[in-house]
Amino acid sequence: MILSPLPPGCRLIAPNYCGVMTTTDGSEQPAHPAYGTLREVTPFASVILCDNPGMMELDGTNTWVLRAPGSDECVVVDPGPPKHKGHAKDLAELPGVALTLITHRHFDHVGGIDRLHKRTGAPTRALSRKHTRDADPLRDREVIEAAGLKITVLHTPGHTGDSVSFLVEHDDERAVITGDTILGSGTTVLDPRDGTLRDYMNSLNRLIVEGDGATLLPAHGPDHPDLGPVARFYKAHREERIDQIVAALEDMDVSAKKAKPMKVVRKVYRDVDKKLWPAARMSVKAQLEYLRES
Ligand SMILES: [Zn+2]
Repeated sequence: MILSPLPPGCRLIAPNYCGVMTTTDGSEQPAHPAYGTLREVTPFASVILCDNPGMMELDGTNTWVLRAPGSDECVVVDPGPPKHKGHAKDLAELPGVALTLITHRHFDHVGGIDRLHKRTGAPTRALSRKHTRDADPLRDREVIEAAGLKITVLHTPGHTGDSVSFLVEHDDERAVITGDTILGSGTTVLDPRDGTLRDYMNSLNRLIVEGDGATLLPAHGPDHPDLGPVARFYKAHREERIDQIVAALEDMDVSAKKAKPMKVVRKVYRDVDKKLWPAARMSVKAQLEYLRES
């Protein structure tokens, strides 16, 4: 679950491409968003975009399919939402599904788990036991060898407490599947249940360190050739928002402890569509909590 209430002055990180893209070897292939097709992004990572667009899902959920060239196994990451039987069926028909990995608990990522598990028998692994089938839950820093690839689990909480990213390596090429922690466009909302801005900032720092030069493979929105600049942009954007909240509090002559989130939203998000204010309120709440702890 994500949302992108773009605050004043914040631009999309990457354009949404349409149609075809010409690759370096001159061949043409579909670009994002390409629904229901297996689209190659790196020699070892392809995506099937589920047809579940929405305010919370952008163009839909990107299900990543990882396979080293020549491997007869593949790893599926995030089998998509519950009501899209055709999507789970397409995934189950991929040759050699050996493992399913989950980035976090939101329904548009975990809804297809049981359908895919039933059809393929492949174990499913998530940080939480609830979304794990026939295996142990993931552990931070664990290295998984599957489908001819090295996949390192990075716990990156903040969007949710159970959010993980996957660093995927093959020969000299690296890519990071970021789930909803970093998206292809817009910003990420922190789940008020267990997402915190402090965790999120730490996770962005971790992705800045791990992700320089790695292809960004997000759970929503277009992929990006280098995670580093996007992660740094996300961090700068969050810092800018925090500075705006601090300035607003000063203006309103109220402390972070006493401030009412909605009053701050009305001031800081006045140029943003009111439909997005409830989400903005969640963000502001998280920022106020962050400031209270500092
Ligand atoms: Zn989510």
